[in-house]
Amino acid sequence: MKAVVYRGERDLAVENVPDARIENPLDAVVRITTTNICGSDLHMYEGRAGVEEGKVLGHENMGVVEEVGDGVQHVRVGDRVSVPFNIGCGTCRSCNEGWTSFCERTNPIEGMQGAAYGYANMGPYAGGQAEYLRVPYADFNLLQLPPGEEHENDFTMLSDIFPTGWHGVELSRFEPGDSVAVFGAGPVGLLAAHSARIRGAGEVFVVDQHADRLELARQIDTTPIDFSDGDPVQQILDARGGAPVDRGVEAVGWQAHDPSGQEHPELVLDNLVSVVKAHGGLGVVGVYVPQDPGAPDEQAADGRVGFDYGTFFTKGQHMGTGQAPVKRYNRQLRDLILAGVATPHFLVSHELSLEDAVEGYAQFDERREGWTKVLLRPDG
Ligand code: NAD
Ligand code: ZN
Ligand code: ZN
Repeated sequence: MKAVVYRGERDLAVENVPDARIENPLDAVVRITTTNICGSDLHMYEGRAGVEEGKVLGHENMGVVEEVGDGVQHVRVGDRVSVPFNIGCGTCRSCNEGWTSFCERTNPIEGMQGAAYGYANMGPYAGGQAEYLRVPYADFNLLQLPPGEEHENDFTMLSDIFPTGWHGVELSRFEPGDSVAVFGAGPVGLLAAHSARIRGAGEVFVVDQHADRLELARQIDTTPIDFSDGDPVQQILDARGGAPVDRGVEAVGWQAHDPSGQEHPELVLDNLVSVVKAHGGLGVVGVYVPQDPGAPDEQAADGRVGFDYGTFFTKGQHMGTGQAPVKRYNRQLRDLILAGVATPHFLVSHELSLEDAVEGYAQFDERREGWTKVLLRPDG
């Protein structure tokens, strides 16, 4: 089958690899109809994340079940499904508590909890930027979708970024009526802002410096803040007569940079601590990971980020972090799509064939104007 394979820093190839197949009686094989390129894939693409050469990438997958193992009881061949990026076993303590992002069984790497498809340090699982994908513990992991092709560009956001955006809002301990500042108008930040709107937020601000992304923020009825126009914290405070916001969401990660492009891993955390009220909450879904040789500076290389903890403590704020447990939210978000309340397809800028993936990565990596969210169609 054809697949997008990591060859080295900014070097991908679309090539033939062995077909995905049933390896365990609880597996299913899914024929991929849509698979997305994610900001998280760029950590690997840019050589920051130490992924092994030859890995098939892709953790945002959906499709139609092609084959099931002998032990699969509920999922049927022909079912249309969304595949959460987390691979849960369904029976460990974390999975039982609804935290599949910290599954204790599926990642064989010593000391690591939580597994994913096509990702560095997240277990030996091939990704779905391919014609077919092997899904372990299929009954537990797969989310059923209505048959057909309707809402394909909405449902494809259910495998990762819609639940992740929702999780960022949840981690901030959001309540209806709260004001929210979202940092990062990439796909995750925009869907965090969309989630806050759906959940009945008061004012929602979205901070970035890319005009096209800020325009999307405006279209979903939130207030764009361009950090190249000056300190984003001050701009938000000015817009609110000096009042801080109730909640903040971090959707940038350790590649946070100033308007000149200089990276400062602590910058957005500092901004959030400043702009959120005392006893308010911060939801951090942008990725920071320890011990990465490609991290921007020595501090980040061992996972340390020197943000303003003193002010965070003085203000008595709380912070929630980590990979999103997709299964916790995806059923509810699917139903919000079906009800017409959620429309995450507004993000989609490009729909490419698998052959065009290399070009799609290059353009998305440069945050090239208009390249917000790239979908790949293996059968297209
Ligand atoms: P992206 O790279 O497309 O978006 C990040 C945006 O942040 C960019 O538009 C960039 O211009 C902006 N930015 C940079 N510096 C900034 C600053 N100082 N202030 C405000 N904005 C700034 O990526 P994405 O796909 O939207 O993902 C965002 C982050 O979320 C990444 O770190 C990704 O790895 C992470 N992520 C986490 C999870 C999870 O489960 N926790 C899941 C998916 C993605
Ligand atoms: Zn993703
Ligand atoms: Zn588990």
